[in-house]
Amino acid sequence: MIDTLLKAAVRDIADFPRPGIVFKDITPILKDAKLCDAVVESFIERLEGLDFDMIAGIESRGFLFGLMLANRLGIPFIPIRKEGKLPSKTTKQSYDLEYGTATIEIHTDAFAPGAKVLLHDDLLATGGTLVAASKLIEQLGGQVAGFSFVISLDFLKGRERLMPFSKKLISLVH
Ligand code: IMP
Repeated sequence: MIDTLLKAAVRDIADFPRPGIVFKDITPILKDAKLCDAVVESFIERLEGLDFDMIAGIESRGFLFGLMLANRLGIPFIPIRKEGKLPSKTTKQSYDLEYGTATIEIHTDAFAPGAKVLLHDDLLATGGTLVAASKLIEQLGGQVAGFSFVISLDFLKGRERLMPFSKKLISLVH
C-alpha cells in the first residue's frame, strides 16, 4: 500500500545532478501531510520490536523523516552533517565518491557510549554514505541498531555493504 502511494508521489528527474543520472525526488511527498503521516506510521510498524534509543539522520534529506520519526517516538534526533556545518567539536569520516571524496561529521558528544542508534536517510544507493555514518557511530562507542530509508535502489547493492553493521534494514520502496 504505502509503496504504491510513494511510487506515485516520487518524481524521476533526468540528468540531475549530472547527465546520465536519474534522480529520485522525494519533495512531492512533503507537500502531502497525510502521506507524510503514513510514511512515519509505516516506519513505526516496521521498527516494531527493534531496540534503539535514538535516530541519527544524514544531511539533508535524512533530516526530514528522521526528525518526524524521532519526535513521534519521543526519542532524541542527531544530525550527521557534511563537513564544516556542525558548530561544536566533531568526529569525522571520509568516504569515496565516484569522483573524489566526501566527509561527514557528528558532534563528538552526540551520545554516550553504548547508545543504540537507528541510522536514517531518504535513499540508499551504493551505501557509501551509510557505511561512513555507521563508522562514526561506532567511533563514538555506539551501536548501529538498524537502518531506515524511504527508497532503496536495490540494483546498486548497498544492502550488502551495510550488513556488517546491522542486518536490520527497513525500506518503504524498492
Ligand atoms: P550512497 O552513499 O551511494 O548510498 O548515496 C546515498 C546518498 O545520496 C543519500 O544521502 C541520498 O540522499 C543521496 N542520493 C543519491 N541518489 C539519490 C536520488 O536519486 N535521490 C535522492 N537522494 C539521492
